[in-house]
Amino acid sequence: MKAVVFEDYKTFPSLKEVDKPTPGPGEVLLKVAGAGCCHSDVSVFRDYTPETGKQTKPPFILGHETSGWIEEVGTGVTGFKKGDAYLVYGPTGCGHCKRCVAGEENYCENRATNKSLAIGLGRDGGMAEYMVVPARNLVPLGDADPIAAAPLADAALTPYHAIKAALPHLNGGGKYALVIGLGGLGQIAIQILKALTGATIIATDMKPEAMAKAEANGAIVVPSDENEVAAIREITGGRGVDAAFDFVGIAPTIAAAQAAGATGSRVTVVGIAGGKAEFDWYSKPSEQELMGVYWGSMPELHEVAALYRQGLITPEIETYSMDNALDAYHKLTDGKLSKRAVVVPHMGE
Ligand code: NAD
Ligand code: ZN
Repeated sequence: MKAVVFEDYKTFPSLKEVDKPTPGPGEVLLKVAGAGCCHSDVSVFRDYTPETGKQTKPPFILGHETSGWIEEVGTGVTGFKKGDAYLVYGPTGCGHCKRCVAGEENYCENRATNKSLAIGLGRDGGMAEYMVVPARNLVPLGDADPIAAAPLADAALTPYHAIKAALPHLNGGGKYALVIGLGGLGQIAIQILKALTGATIIATDMKPEAMAKAEANGAIVVPSDENEVAAIREITGGRGVDAAFDFVGIAPTIAAAQAAGATGSRVTVVGIAGGKAEFDWYSKPSEQELMGVYWGSMPELHEVAALYRQGLITPEIETYSMDNALDAYHKLTDGKLSKRAVVVPHMGE
């Protein structure tokens, strides 16, 4: 079968012919419906070194944001029907610590010593015609479209977790939320904020088409430039926003999120660009929290799937065949995508 393989550190992935996998005990073979291209993959293949990318050691098949149809089950697996559609929960922890048994494999207590991070991050993922996943990592999609659903597994689950954790700041009337970086995750974050809160949503990016899309989805947009903090504060009547979500994560965007915040606000950094944050007692809003988050939990992915099935969130995607998968990664790397790129290995079948 064809697969997109990350073959070596600091090397662009390649499209290769590999063996179709077979499911072991407790596992399921999925016929892949869709595999989303996430910016984190760019960090994995372009930036990480053997030191920083110890748990994403090549070679492995990329694709940590996937959906598919049941093809075959391994020994001991019951209750699944061939052809039924599922989302794949990506994070794979030790499976037995307190976090893992609660379905929070993203925060496995043994994360530091686990060999890989997730399905598609350190072990084979879904950028392929078929993939093998532990049966417990499957979240049912019912009759909802599995291809447009693929981004739910990361581009929706990650902002969902960040927003749900920030809800105490957004409950009640007259609240403001700020979304910085309107790509794959940021656009869905706007939909999730609308579905879960009554907050006024302010959104910022430097790409006109990304801002237009956010505006069409109900956000007030502010171009990302040296005047953005003043413009955002003005929209809030000078008070500042109650919760900010930074989907870029460089020092200037973290600083903008801090500066745009109200007293008692929360700044959540989702982007993994590694920007450093500054603090001093005099210039930062009092009682402002600063938070980094990583992905989301298994129960939260069930909640995300429910929002999708209710029509409350709909990832906007552009699809690529397996033969064009590397194109999608080139466009993502160059910042040229305007929708989430989803590779569809069985396109036209
Ligand atoms: P993307 O490439 O689809 O979108 C990034 C967007 O940010 C683009 O629209 C771009 O124009 C905009 N942008 C870039 N610099 C900006 C700036 N200075 N100000 C405002 N906007 C700016 O990326 P994505 O797939 O949505 O991922 C976003 C980030 O989240 C990446 O860093 C990714 O690695 C990270 N991520 C983190 C987690 C986690 O668990 N923490 C999970 C998934 C992705
Ligand atoms: Zn664990």
